[in-house]
Amino acid sequence: MVQNYSAQEKTDSLVLKETNFAGYSVGKNWKPLIIDKAEGVYFQDDQGKRYMDFSSQPACVNLGHNNKNVITAMREQADNLVYIGSFLGTPKRVELSTKLQKILPQNLKKYYFANSGSEANEAAVKMVRIFLKREGRFKIISRYNSYHGWTAASTQLTGNPRRFPAEPSGSFPGVVHVPDPYCYRCPFGLKYPECGVACADYVEYVIENEGNVGAMILEPVTGASGVVVPPKEYLPKIRKITSEHGVFLIADEVMSGWGRTGEWFAINNWGVQPDILTTAKGITGGHFPLSLTATNSAIGDFFEQNWLAVSGTYSAHPLGMAAASAAIDEYQRLNLISRSKELGSYLGKRLEELKEKHPSVGDVRGIGLFWAVELVKNRETKEPFDSADDYLSGKTLMVQKIANKMLEKGVFIYTGVVSHLVVSPPLIITTEEIDLAIEALDEALILSDQECEKVGASS
Ligand code: PMP
Repeated sequence: MVQNYSAQEKTDSLVLKETNFAGYSVGKNWKPLIIDKAEGVYFQDDQGKRYMDFSSQPACVNLGHNNKNVITAMREQADNLVYIGSFLGTPKRVELSTKLQKILPQNLKKYYFANSGSEANEAAVKMVRIFLKREGRFKIISRYNSYHGWTAASTQLTGNPRRFPAEPSGSFPGVVHVPDPYCYRCPFGLKYPECGVACADYVEYVIENEGNVGAMILEPVTGASGVVVPPKEYLPKIRKITSEHGVFLIADEVMSGWGRTGEWFAINNWGVQPDILTTAKGITGGHFPLSLTATNSAIGDFFEQNWLAVSGTYSAHPLGMAAASAAIDEYQRLNLISRSKELGSYLGKRLEELKEKHPSVGDVRGIGLFWAVELVKNRETKEPFDSADDYLSGKTLMVQKIANKMLEKGVFIYTGVVSHLVVSPPLIITTEEIDLAIEALDEALILSDQECEKVGASS
């Protein structure tokens, strides 16, 4: 590996490579670009090359990079008070809590702030288990095509292959996985709408047959595991089933929240209220590590009388409170929630055009500015280029080849787990910028087309 580095890389990229672990990859494959500037939809490397960010990094810089008003709010906060423990309050924490009351689903009344989406989910399941301790209902239903984080509980909640290497060490017992509303590859081999949304009914079967189920966690629109948008009946049905069985519904909106789907939170698209909502990323637009676990008043009231075993040194960090409060103002000032809905139709149309043209594009799906491009070797059989084993082996996957080619062309795109690209640009992107990124994707897809078995291709 070492001999391939240029002199500049030896002093920068190689230092990182030799001293840092590379997360969610096999270390020898990691060769990071060094990024030293960013603004709006673009970031720039230390060689002066500019890249358009077509995925908001991992779907977090929803406001674009380096939003001036968020930075000013953080700077002002830093001038006054950089740190204070979460057992004390700050004016910005009051301000943020008041704003959250207006934008969260109306039944969510009580907030816990931590530093990452993983922690937000840890807190959610811990709250549920403490709440239900006397009843002994400790099991949590999650879905196979899901990602909920990298810490012990959130890894076990995760359904996708990122969970496999961590099992059983550090695992969190009592998680039961169920199939997803992944219509392109229906696990029941059925077709919507004739299926009657059997994947939702199956959740009731699992609740009844498992016993001791306390909660179900799901991403209302799946993120890194495929940007799966559920059929319209799915979430209302899941809400009905969970409510009837007294099972808490946890909506993991770490990726799908903050305008990504054209609503403040994805679950609003289906008029469903979860018992707990977890979120991070877009809450500060990536400007500061912050997460939120918001609960209904039953859980809120319970912990008025009972010991809540969660908190960290950096919970409700003053810089995070200032950043999130300013970020909410920016989403509103720039009308980014409705903009996401409007631009989403345009982005979807452009991606559908790519599907028409490229035989290796098996499916495109999405909502708002949140889309997946799923690649296949063969459209008829839907055979993917790579497997979960390939993903974990460190093999260069087809989606990575496409992403690398796009990077050469100056466009960053995030690869999902395992066979799709995640298109989730900053909500400030313009149609002209979408066109430029689509052009790069169009050219890069020639790579996958070349390795495609041409059966069933439309071109
Ligand atoms: N849940 C979802 C849906 C996510 O997309 C992520 C991060 N990609 C997480 C949880 C974990 O968040 P974090 O990386 O901030 O711990």
